[in-house]
Amino acid sequence: MTQLSNSLAAADLATSLHPYTDARALEETGPIIIARGEGIHVWDTAGNKYIEGLAGLWSVAVGFGETRLADAAHKQMSQLPYYHIFAAKAHEPSIRLAEKLVEITPEPLTRVFYTNSGSEANDTVVKLVWYMNNALGRPEKKKFLARNKGYHGITIASGSLTGLPNNHRDFDLPAIPVVHLTCPHFYRFGQEGETEAEFTARLLAELEAVIEREGAETIAAFIGEPLMGAGGVMVPPEGYWPGVEAICRKHDILLVSDEVINGFGRTGGRFGCETYGFTPDIMTVSKQITSSYMPLAAVLFTEEIYDAIADNSHKIGTFGHGYTASGHPVATAVALENLAILEERDLMGAANRLGPRLQEGLRQYADHPLVGEVRGAGLIAGIELVADKATRAPFAPIGRVGAQAAIFGHAEGLIFRAIGDTLALCPPLIVTEADIDQIVEKMGRALDRTA
Ligand code: PLP
Repeated sequence: MTQLSNSLAAADLATSLHPYTDARALEETGPIIIARGEGIHVWDTAGNKYIEGLAGLWSVAVGFGETRLADAAHKQMSQLPYYHIFAAKAHEPSIRLAEKLVEITPEPLTRVFYTNSGSEANDTVVKLVWYMNNALGRPEKKKFLARNKGYHGITIASGSLTGLPNNHRDFDLPAIPVVHLTCPHFYRFGQEGETEAEFTARLLAELEAVIEREGAETIAAFIGEPLMGAGGVMVPPEGYWPGVEAICRKHDILLVSDEVINGFGRTGGRFGCETYGFTPDIMTVSKQITSSYMPLAAVLFTEEIYDAIADNSHKIGTFGHGYTASGHPVATAVALENLAILEERDLMGAANRLGPRLQEGLRQYADHPLVGEVRGAGLIAGIELVADKATRAPFAPIGRVGAQAAIFGHAEGLIFRAIGDTLALCPPLIVTEADIDQIVEKMGRALDRTA
């Protein structure tokens, strides 16, 4: 390590608490300090070059160093660096972006509310839905249905919707009324002898049974990621989403598609709900909306929901919710430019063009002694490592082998994310065929070194 990175690392260890990190383990290893990025690559302060196989945090769609986004930010900062959209104020970038989002998302979604992060977007969903149901005179209709291993963020409400033990444990969550259903991952949660179709039928029967038990009049909404990302890249079984949609419609339960990872072309369709065949009443988006060059997220919802909220805000005199940076002009200007790039280069079609090469390339490792399942869709994939291929028994403790693999990945010049023992890949949408071949090869070498 250079002297610079040594002193930076020391300063980091002396001052920071890192998100999603074992703080004491970090004190031993120190951080990898990333200094710059270009295209699909990043470099650390020691000069090591990596392919960013997770696009940062599933988000840098256009790759690093896209000067058009820097120019858009500079232009907006020079003209109007900040203004809010509270109390009847507005500005052009947030208006234009809302128009664009309404244009490209499924038809019933006609309204946009801006937040800074995916967590705040899902938190806002809870508040919108509660506010709406109070306004409609049905204050008992407040519960959410979510899934085990679903990821919706970490604020008090969105963290409650998340179905992962580490996001609940010792945080006193869930703190809102939520029922977590079986994770729709056939490999892990299918029963012995069950077909995928039978698995889907069982999950739908469970959903019906939970609604029956809780009472549809107490359930406000069902939230899910079309393809589950941060819980371990899990593809829904055939027929699952249309089935969930039909049941929600029957019981007057709103359907929320959390597209924070899926959105803007990750799974093949422009949005995950298109890939998996359902139409939500509410959608949350973030990450690839700006390629994470600026923090931004949005909630999209139907005119019907808007009307109920608008009427109530008129009665009360305000809609008492919003963030200082809701619709931030620089973030929304960057999002507009980013979406223009995605459209001009047809990057929302990249998952259809290049996804098969990534998926097929990785599936050659299905026979690797460590690998239980290779899964994914479009340009997102997961490789689950297991202690016993035949019984699918996980390693104990979960995560140790995955973490080792990630370190070997670094040594091979590939950054991926170990989620427990699932190795997640989600490269920038600008990847080429040659890049994908390199990612696949480097992953293979990391697996061999781990074995
Ligand atoms: N929803 C999904 C599906 C996510 O993957 C994430 C983050 O990874 C979030 C919500 C939370 O977003 P943020 O980290 O911006 O709060």
